[in-house]
Amino acid sequence: MFKKIEEFLGNRKVTLPSPPTLAVRLLELVKKEDYTKLAEVIRLDPALAARVLALANSPLYRTDQKEITSIETAISLLGTELIKNVALSFIVARNFKPKGFRELTFDFERFWKRAVTQAVAARLLGLKLEDKNEDHLFTSALLMDIGIIVFYLLLGDEYLEVFDEKEISGKSLREIEKNFYGFSHEILGAYLLKQWHLPAHIVQDVHYHHDWEKAPEKYRTHARILYYADLIGGIYFSYTSTLKYQKILKELPEFLKISEREILELIDRVALECRDIFAFFDLPQEKLPSYSEILEQSKTELERLSISYVLLLRQLKEEKRRAEELARKLKMVNEKLRKLSIIDGLTGLYNHRYFQERLQEEFERTRRYRHSLSLIMLDIDYFKKVNDTYGHLFGDFVLKELARIIKESSRKTDIAARYGGEEFALILPETEIQGASALGERLRSRVEKHSFQMNGMSLHITISLGAASIFPAESSKTPRDLIETADKALYYSKTHGRNRLTAVNITE
Ligand code: GH3
Ligand code: MG
Ligand code: MG
Repeated sequence: MFKKIEEFLGNRKVTLPSPPTLAVRLLELVKKEDYTKLAEVIRLDPALAARVLALANSPLYRTDQKEITSIETAISLLGTELIKNVALSFIVARNFKPKGFRELTFDFERFWKRAVTQAVAARLLGLKLEDKNEDHLFTSALLMDIGIIVFYLLLGDEYLEVFDEKEISGKSLREIEKNFYGFSHEILGAYLLKQWHLPAHIVQDVHYHHDWEKAPEKYRTHARILYYADLIGGIYFSYTSTLKYQKILKELPEFLKISEREILELIDRVALECRDIFAFFDLPQEKLPSYSEILEQSKTELERLSISYVLLLRQLKEEKRRAEELARKLKMVNEKLRKLSIIDGLTGLYNHRYFQERLQEEFERTRRYRHSLSLIMLDIDYFKKVNDTYGHLFGDFVLKELARIIKESSRKTDIAARYGGEEFALILPETEIQGASALGERLRSRVEKHSFQMNGMSLHITISLGAASIFPAESSKTPRDLIETADKALYYSKTHGRNRLTAVNITE
């Protein structure tokens, strides 16, 4: 499995983030069983020490009423293992919250809120199971989805497509990641934590938290706890929370050997405990409503309905949201695709293909409604010289600027297109030869007067134009004939001095 990650990193020429130095030191001390220094190292970082103490005093950890005021006391009351893990949690989380993360497209705040919720849930589940080795569950759960952030840091916005795909297909994140990259986030996360030499049980927990059944015997229970902690996190943060809720109600009573009622209490307690813990991780401390409060709210909307109806209703709402989101995205993608297929990338005018289509359409339409139709073709004079003298970039700039002038000089109903390299075409529906000539002349003179300026360079250019008009209802000619006539007129302008307009009215 890790081989795929190594291939991926190699192919993309990216490297994993390195571990925070403080975490490395902490882990070394614990490895050497040098516990006296543990308090010292934590104290070296006052912000860290304050957080560790605050967490040690939170109801999540504190067992009696006495306030813990020093790291040493915290260690002696709660144990080295626990304090080390708590410290590790803070260090790693801090390291993975980029500065200015609020401007980024990935919602780091939501990610960490969910991670903390899952960590709290894992701790409470561990306590319920009276698991003797639950000390690292908080850390494992906090870090179990770290692979998602690592993916984002490695791939940037490209990775966000995974979420779009999830939204659209309804598939699980892991499945989509596997399709896109060959492995999923929990494997990437486990790989990173292993590289960082985090304790094996944390690495294993993270690795198997979706597939707890496949975990080695020794780690299976914890992987399973993480799996349920993930579902509880989903109740509070996923868009398909009702599904998670139902799964938990189905499976957890048997696993924990407790009643459904106690499970509901546990789910609520997670929200209550989180309120403090968010602050320790510098997350906005706004109140996370407990799930019964959430359900209660929906219930007051529909007082007479039973709880299962309320759930069903929420589920329908979630489905509706997904469908709407899907429709919105599809619409956006379609619009984007359509634009891409008809617009010229450099000038923003219509492209050649669309020009041909529209000319055909306008020809038919003006024939039906017995109107005139005109076409102007124009070409920059001696443009090759512009490129040769001022460079291609300046040439491109001239094309863009000219496109703007053409657009501004014509009517909304006219169709302006880039016909080829430095050749443009304007379809003028319901316009006779006089109108076309007037517009052509106006364009010619505007361009002649315009000063094209970029990076201190300034230049005047001229264009040659050919116009042709037709009354399709009384003509046997085709759109192709119209183009050919306008083109011939343009050629006449080119061979008779340039910077001029030649207009032809097709009469038969
Ligand atoms: P004429 O007055 O006879 O039209 O002379 P000309 O030099 O304008 O015409 P010619 O057809 O010999 O050269 C056209 C030039 O336009 C050559 C080509 O490199 C340039 N060109 C075509 N497309 C682009 C483009 O997208 N960007 C830039 N910068 N130049 C382009
Ligand atoms: Mg030219
Ligand atoms: Mg040319």
